[in-house]
Amino acid sequence: MRKVVVLGATGSIGCQTLEVAARFPDKIRVVGLSAGSNISLVAEQTRQFGVRNVVLKDEKTAEEFRRFGFLDVEVLLGIDGLCRLASLSEADTVVNGLVGSLGLRPSLAALEAGKRLCLANKEALVMGGQLVLAAKKRGKGELVPIDSEHSALFQCLLAGGSRGVRRVFLTASGGPFLNWPKDEMLSAKPSDALKHPTWTMGKKITIDSATLFNKALEVIEAHFLFGLTPEQIEVVVHPQSIVHSLVEFADGSTMAQLGPPDMRIPIQYALSYPERWESPYGTFGPMSFGNLNFLPLDNEKFPSVKMAYRALQMGGTAPAVLAAADECAVGLYLEEKISFGEIFELVGEALEAHQPIESPTVEDIEGTERWARAFITDRVKVSV
Ligand code: MG
Repeated sequence: MRKVVVLGATGSIGCQTLEVAARFPDKIRVVGLSAGSNISLVAEQTRQFGVRNVVLKDEKTAEEFRRFGFLDVEVLLGIDGLCRLASLSEADTVVNGLVGSLGLRPSLAALEAGKRLCLANKEALVMGGQLVLAAKKRGKGELVPIDSEHSALFQCLLAGGSRGVRRVFLTASGGPFLNWPKDEMLSAKPSDALKHPTWTMGKKITIDSATLFNKALEVIEAHFLFGLTPEQIEVVVHPQSIVHSLVEFADGSTMAQLGPPDMRIPIQYALSYPERWESPYGTFGPMSFGNLNFLPLDNEKFPSVKMAYRALQMGGTAPAVLAAADECAVGLYLEEKISFGEIFELVGEALEAHQPIESPTVEDIEGTERWARAFITDRVKVSV
């Protein structure tokens, strides 16, 4: 029986995790939930799974939650609450479906406490890769990716062995603007950017998929997860999102993992690994996908992926700047304070202006995050 804590329970990954959990009551017990502002939903989830540990944002949301009853539920607050939930003694598994930099400290706490960390929050690894790996080693925790490309690489490396890897290909759908002229894309509205052609996801990651900053973050995520050099990681556009990634071995063999674009499959695998459980979410079906295309990435139209290689080359806190600057810029774009094209400009400028700190502590990373946010908001104020 897996005893699971779900961080970000009311988000896209959280809801899909609970859907998987509901299908396997004999295999998965949900012991903790965290939520931001969707109190009625987390109350419903708490009741459905009989959860006794809940983390909420602040006193105000906690008060709202208590109006639903739950006298026997322990409610904790904020980042300290998230870290305590991630290291809860009743749990052996933590699904991190938090959005953005908020996910770093709870990831460290889960791994330090020796849990299996099923990681959907790629920002934790991008911002604090070295710290996450050190915490995993110290606490003897386990790290299983949920991100579909990395779940694919994880499975290909299990099948083919992690020795003799020549390079890996991360596939990218290309997002909603793959076939838009560049000029039109640069002034695209959030309503257009939020229309992802293949995946259904939360807002932040959907915008990241439109800019391809999502793929940029995934390059860095792959570097830390699998110990690959930047030269070993390539990005290829694959509009159907069926081949989730590929590993090329030294002898010329390439392994790929295929499946429908449905996050419940990698979520379930991260929970069931090394077992495989039945799932109703469909299969690849060679006949129904006769055409699988692979195209080179247009780095001029989407300068984001190049910035990932630049951040890795700069090292230290540079990847944290990339992630934090992007998160801040996406927020401003969703509020329609900056244009789509300005996301690229602002993140690029923040990265180049940064003086990386080598071997950063958590405080260094959080300081870097504040610096990147201030850099971006100052720029936007100046230009208004
Ligand atoms: Mg992904």
